Amino acid sequence: LTRHYLDRIAASQHNAFLHVDAELSLAQAKAADARFAEGSAGPLTGIPIAHKDIFVTKGWRSTAASKMLGNYVSPFDATVVTKFGDAGMVTLGKLNCDEFAMGSANENSAFGAVQNPWDTLAVPGGSSGGSAAAIAARLAPAATGTDTGGSIRQPAAFCGITGIKPTYGRVSRFGMIAFASSLDQGGPMARTAEDCALLLNEMVGFDERDSTSLTAEQGNAREDFTRELNQPLTGLRIGVPKEYFGEGLAADVEQAVRAALDQFVKLGATLVEISLPKTSLSIPVYYIIAPAEASSNLSRFDGVRYGYRTPEYKDLQDMYKKTRAEGFGKEVQRRIMVGTYVLCHGYYDAYYVQAQKIRRLIADDFQAAFKDKCDVIMGPVAPTVAWDLGSKSDDPVANYLADIFTLSTSLAGLPGMSIPVGFGAGEKNGKRPVGLQIIGNYFAEAKLLNIAHQYQ
Ligand code: GLN
Repeated sequence: LTRHYLDRIAASQHNAFLHVDAELSLAQAKAADARFAEGSAGPLTGIPIAHKDIFVTKGWRSTAASKMLGNYVSPFDATVVTKFGDAGMVTLGKLNCDEFAMGSANENSAFGAVQNPWDTLAVPGGSSGGSAAAIAARLAPAATGTDTGGSIRQPAAFCGITGIKPTYGRVSRFGMIAFASSLDQGGPMARTAEDCALLLNEMVGFDERDSTSLTAEQGNAREDFTRELNQPLTGLRIGVPKEYFGEGLAADVEQAVRAALDQFVKLGATLVEISLPKTSLSIPVYYIIAPAEASSNLSRFDGVRYGYRTPEYKDLQDMYKKTRAEGFGKEVQRRIMVGTYVLCHGYYDAYYVQAQKIRRLIADDFQAAFKDKCDVIMGPVAPTVAWDLGSKSDDPVANYLADIFTLSTSLAGLPGMSIPVGFGAGEKNGKRPVGLQIIGNYFAEAKLLNIAHQYQ
């Protein structure tokens, strides 16, 4: 199985993988085979998985798709990587993504863009674009992704695969290269909800090395996420936020999403119109909070301890400046500047504190809906299908605006997933998939996976 995928990776042109080491992978596969002989194999033993290059790995380089970490090899594995290793999974390599997970199209990678396997003229989405493309092109049966403001759900939608962002705090962030720590959350990406459930079984749980990791007492006990697959959907109340169907939603996306909602009605669910009135504020709020946290997290990349250092410099100040100017890409520099600005004395109250207050109101909107109107919420993942490679790469604001339907879930810390529900209208080099977003209340992952599993 590992050989099969390594051969496919070697022959592929999508630029989904950044680092592959066949020898290491095959050694892991051999160890997995031995577990079958010993009788210690589990359901995922021997199944290959590839990791977004945000997760650090001992054997493969860990670059966060940045020149800053171009040759970085971590002395330890991320907790998620360790957990999958303990389950006997085989690492296939490291996946391309936006630099430090900042982006919506995977075009901010220092190592080049990724092609969408459905239509090679289209972006795969971002920031986990390599993960989504690898699954869609059958270069890996499973992958990890990280979602700070949509980076699992949106590339899953653009590449026609399945991905789930768990409740914030369920999956350890230890060894996940930090972008915005109060939002970052790892999760699985695969072909089906059932595969995601099996993967999530291994991922969740308290980790003392992550200060925001949730304990079992707080609700983060390990559970079998496959246990509710095939539960009837009769009586399920699906909230349909009117703000997710307004101006800006492309007609072909709306059509595919509404057809999917009709399917759920046939399966016994009812649709309830709800309102999430602060939806439009999620863009300014997120693009204040995420850069603020990023500017602090990325201060560690100063050319002293690890990573890139400029070859020529006059003194320490000059070394810092040149290292950061040469090591970070444009979008990362933009975010560091915005983040530093909103945190500085005099602007802190006007921007950062204000954004935190609105963040709470956004979370309150969801709680009001879940309190007495609906059990889950459904809507589009993104306003359009995948756009053309290069068409928005010089327009950061156009990228930010496309995050409108995924940001509020992240700001509230809620679980959300994307499942494939058809294709958009236009064809260029091929079809462009549409994703349906399913959002649940805290710890509702099993319910979301069950609902997703029933969709045909
Ligand atoms: N597109 C968003 C951003 O650029 C979200 C990225 C993410 O979830 N990592 O920040």
